[in-house]
Amino acid sequence: MTQSVQKSDLSVRVVFGAATRKSIAAEVQRLGGTRALVLATPQQSNEALAIAEQLGALAVGVFCKAEMHTPVHVTEAAMVHVAETKADCLIAIGGGSTTGLGKAIAYRNDLPQVVIPTTYAGSECTSILGQTEDGLKTTLRDARVLPEVIIYDSELVITLPVSMTVTSALNAMAHAAEALYAPDRTEKTTALAMEGLRAFVEGLPKVVASPNDLAAREATQRGAWACGTVLDQVGMALHHKLCHTLGGSFGLPHAETHAVVLPHAIAYNARAAAKELQPICELLGGENAGTALYTFAKQMNAPMALRDLGLKEADLDRAADLATTKPYPNPQPVTRDDIRALLQAAWAGDTPIE
Ligand code: NAD
Repeated sequence: MTQSVQKSDLSVRVVFGAATRKSIAAEVQRLGGTRALVLATPQQSNEALAIAEQLGALAVGVFCKAEMHTPVHVTEAAMVHVAETKADCLIAIGGGSTTGLGKAIAYRNDLPQVVIPTTYAGSECTSILGQTEDGLKTTLRDARVLPEVIIYDSELVITLPVSMTVTSALNAMAHAAEALYAPDRTEKTTALAMEGLRAFVEGLPKVVASPNDLAAREATQRGAWACGTVLDQVGMALHHKLCHTLGGSFGLPHAETHAVVLPHAIAYNARAAAKELQPICELLGGENAGTALYTFAKQMNAPMALRDLGLKEADLDRAADLATTKPYPNPQPVTRDDIRALLQAAWAGDTPIE
């Protein structure tokens, strides 16, 4: 099934369904592409090669060196490949890392992008690009970066291991949870955020119980689209700031960090935004949205403690300092002591501080 999404003057074509990757050639031609370069991580090079084979003469190469956090040196190597192959279109198959590489190339040369997401991270729905250079991650927003076509093929997400399925889903849910109290939210963004959260609350238990259930996989991919789209439409706050700090400065893995931090950040902000977060309580049951998310994550067997992701207790002071140096809008005032306490609870895997 196809739907077109209008965002200001930008239009994104979104395709859902099992085996929809068969339409890649038609999508490339619709974009006017005749020379497609296929992108992937080294781990998903087989998927990239299969797409190149499927495209035949429409594909001019594969570049399978995408990495987490979009290092600029990888993008520069890919740009050389783009020039050598004279590619006029990009196909990114994978999670946020591969999508990030495609977006980084498009930022530099405005090539059209077809993205085939295989996680729930939601990067394919945004005009946001994070890039890393000399150990520093910076984020920009640019219309060139937004992909033209997204193909959510449910058959391609069934290979995502259950543990990654859960953490990636919680990563997506984090976009929607923070959208509920964003200062620039609208009725439309709140409805979209709730559509995304509902899709995961209903669909994730089914996927965990039966990872090959294509209907449940498609339902969760629709959730990923809603959560990713709302991420592009409103500003994020404490949760995303903490995850950015923990990933950027301590090398913690992206989706797992989101999964652990989410209940703690939402419980923190429920002190000031309980009304805005009430729909989460209604969806999951319970009186505090953060605690309700903690229970849901536990039921899904998500990682619950930052210490299990490799963060040392001795790093908590520096993490609290880094996450509170620059002020940013957040419902509950951000103080160094309160964030230090939040991080301690998240590090130990305790229930969130309400
Ligand atoms: P990822 O893309 O790094 O994938 C993790 C690993 O899983 C990779 O090795 C990948 O090849 C593999 N994988 C992916 N799908 C698979 C599948 N179906 N089967 C088997 N293996 C699979 O992880 P991610 O969490 O999707 O993306 C994280 C990155 O995305 C981070 O760099 C983050 O900053 C970025 N991101 C950006 C935005 C944005 O709007 N700019 C939004 C969300 C995430």
